[in-house]
Amino acid sequence: MSIIHLLPDHIANQIAAGEVVQRPASVVKELMENAVDASAQNIKVIIKDAGRTSIQIIDDGKGMLPEDALKCFERHATSKITVADDLFTLKTKGFRGEALASISAVAHVVLKTKQEEVELGFLVEIEGSKISKQEETVCAKGTSFEIRNLFYNIPARRNFLKSDYVEFGHIQEEFIRVALAHPECKFILMHNDQELLHLNSGVLRKRIVDILGKSSNEHIVPIEEATDIIKIEGYVGKPEFARKSRGEQYLFVNNRFFKDAYFNHAVTKAFEGLIPEKSFPSYFIFLTVDPSKIDVNIHPTKTEIKFEEDRFIYSILLSSIKKALGKYNIMPTLDFEIETSFDIPSSFRKNPLVEPQIIVNPNYNPFHKQANTASKGDYSKGIHSQGFGTEQPEDKDWENFYAINKEDAPARQGQIELDESFDTGNNFLIRGKYILTNCKSGVMVIDIKRATERIRYEQLLNAFVKEPIQHQALLFPIEKELSKDEIRIWTEHESLLGQLGFTGILKENTLHLGSTPNALHESQIETCFTALINLLVHSAIDKGDLAHQVVAVLANNSARTATIQVPEQASRLIEELFSLPEHAFCPSGKPIIKTITLEEIAAKF
Ligand code: ADP
Ligand code: MG
Repeated sequence: MSIIHLLPDHIANQIAAGEVVQRPASVVKELMENAVDASAQNIKVIIKDAGRTSIQIIDDGKGMLPEDALKCFERHATSKITVADDLFTLKTKGFRGEALASISAVAHVVLKTKQEEVELGFLVEIEGSKISKQEETVCAKGTSFEIRNLFYNIPARRNFLKSDYVEFGHIQEEFIRVALAHPECKFILMHNDQELLHLNSGVLRKRIVDILGKSSNEHIVPIEEATDIIKIEGYVGKPEFARKSRGEQYLFVNNRFFKDAYFNHAVTKAFEGLIPEKSFPSYFIFLTVDPSKIDVNIHPTKTEIKFEEDRFIYSILLSSIKKALGKYNIMPTLDFEIETSFDIPSSFRKNPLVEPQIIVNPNYNPFHKQANTASKGDYSKGIHSQGFGTEQPEDKDWENFYAINKEDAPARQGQIELDESFDTGNNFLIRGKYILTNCKSGVMVIDIKRATERIRYEQLLNAFVKEPIQHQALLFPIEKELSKDEIRIWTEHESLLGQLGFTGILKENTLHLGSTPNALHESQIETCFTALINLLVHSAIDKGDLAHQVVAVLANNSARTATIQVPEQASRLIEELFSLPEHAFCPSGKPIIKTITLEEIAAKF
């Protein structure tokens, strides 16, 4: 006699419910997400006794017709995907169609819902997967779910719940995650008749400040970066805002909260040296990627997500945070011990500065050690990280402040003032390699190759983080035989190298390079490519600095043959150099300018 039989639905649902509904907070998360998926603008969460007695979520979204109000409790009942391919273009939070089936298996549920066009709403009551009531009802447009007596039929689960304090803490956390991801919606959280959070719709900055408290407004700085592969937006807390406990750390992909130790490491690394050990930076970071490049399906409660391009994302994440911190006043001051102040000629001030969008020094790395410990490849050489700059000027009308993207950071401190008396025509070229020019305290000598390297580096890095660097297709692909190690490196970093402008096809052990960056002269291609592969082969390479390092290699190679033959070009180079926030050192840390003071000249006679 067969001993195998199928479990009745209500038991199967109860078992499956264990995966989705672990505690009251899971219910809050699922129902809030459903409300967001239903395009609600106002979402109210009303909790009694940390969710033990009742959880009610009221939304003004699109509502359901009676037929769907009944169907929605069935397992795998979803309106969000129809074919498997939809999983790769997912825009909604839900898609598994199991939240309501699970919740209704382990609680008493009352659903009231109405679509805008219809006159009467519909009510469904369901207990332990069994519908106990269904009827027309008078209600507002939208949907209200009330979940009473959670785990009433699974005493072990109910007893397993922690104190109200702990359970409500979880609820609040889930509430905040959804609320952060949707600042365009209004959210209210009530507990035992008390309104705890009232979040009006607005922009992300306002949402963060409404949750963390008004004073947090001064403590967060925006991050923003866009590449072909990923868009990064959000805010990080300034170093002084770091917490002793892992508190405000929020990472979202396509507006879905997720946890990721690897990306968290990128953020932590960006703060290295800036915050005390064992304290945690705050962050609210939103990644946007093509949904087909991630797999949200690997964990039932969906807080872990697999990324196809995680190494590249790591790198960009790290550099964008460093850039943001560098830009917003956690600024370096020039190391005047190494180089006395360059009294820079200042008729330049009359000329419009060439590239205003590069106000930021994207490679400024506030976290590297000071100049004396800097090594080759340490871009901050010559830069003190002591004395973080002053705060942003406070915007008085701080409510309006939200609307402004505070991209226009105040001028960096330590920016060298240009001298009025300078005459642009006063350049002297030394063998096409150096520019000799007057300055207030004497003369300065500028290394043309290094100055070009610094300028190229800034331009390339700026381009690199946004889109693939400009490249040209080669009429005749360059063939390059690769070693086993090099093949591994090429395969592993193909997208990174592609972003740099190197694309190619690997056939067995020969790489056919089909395009190369425009910045390189034909004669520089091979050397540069080899240098990049060598850099990437190097086992100790710091993943986080990858972007900076590969761009530095490209800049270095492209500047190799830089010379200047006419004084006008020299003036242009100086102008460009001094429009950059970092003009004293090239990316490898070598000085670009040396000054010889009048006293030093006098002493020679
Ligand atoms: P999923 O969200 O994965 O589709 P759920 O069990 O959470 O599965 O919900 C099942 C279906 O019920 C949803 O696909 C949606 O059509 C409908 N639904 C649930 N909540 C709401 C709501 N608040 N407003 C409108 N429709 C809803
Ligand atoms: Mg759902």
